[in-house]
Amino acid sequence: MSHITVVEDEPNISEVVRLYLRRSGYTVTTYADGLEALEAITRQPPDLAIIDIMLPGMDGFSLTRHLRSRGDVPIILLTSRREEHDRIAGLEIGADDYVVKPFSPQELVSRVRAVLRRARGSLDGTAGGTLVFGDLVIAPQARLVTLAGHEIVLTAREFDMLYYLACHPRQVFSRNQLLESVWGLSDYIDPGTVTVHIRRLREKIEPDPGNPLRLCTVWGVGYKFEP
Ligand code: CA
Repeated sequence: MSHITVVEDEPNISEVVRLYLRRSGYTVTTYADGLEALEAITRQPPDLAIIDIMLPGMDGFSLTRHLRSRGDVPIILLTSRREEHDRIAGLEIGADDYVVKPFSPQELVSRVRAVLRRARGSLDGTAGGTLVFGDLVIAPQARLVTLAGHEIVLTAREFDMLYYLACHPRQVFSRNQLLESVWGLSDYIDPGTVTVHIRRLREKIEPDPGNPLRLCTVWGVGYKFEP
């Protein structure tokens, strides 16, 4: 049974979240104060922490930063603010996902499931949380990519390919290998599709797409991601 810590100072929200999570089979501990939560989580890390941004004691951003510097507890941030920079800031300091208030408890539960699934996957080395390479941030839960704090709009396939390459830094993949891993069916798609996607990704994330620093070509073999 997974243990989830909820850090939220609004009693109504905290109670609803606790009820839904318990009903879904999770053990839940709640805290209303950021500092108190930091001590408790550090003492005994839960399987996942849900953290509100506006908190007494210590705000959710600082709490996330502290927890990240000490370990890899999966974190979902609750934010009542819709501003994009808040979401991005949260992901950049290492949160795995965020949920904007008001949210449906059912949606939160499904995000919890997804983040836990990813966290377990990362133990097998197959998938993980937010990847940070300098000013490039790739957040698989939110399917969000930011460069120097700005959101980069990617198609689903562009995201999948970037994420796949970034999960295997410096490993070289042929176009057919990428088709198999990212598209899932190599027989019916022209390998040139990969070339096109690489070019579009470079235009979006490389300062100089003609001289890529991240998405590099290995002549005669394929492509690799430089971290
Ligand atoms: Ca609050």
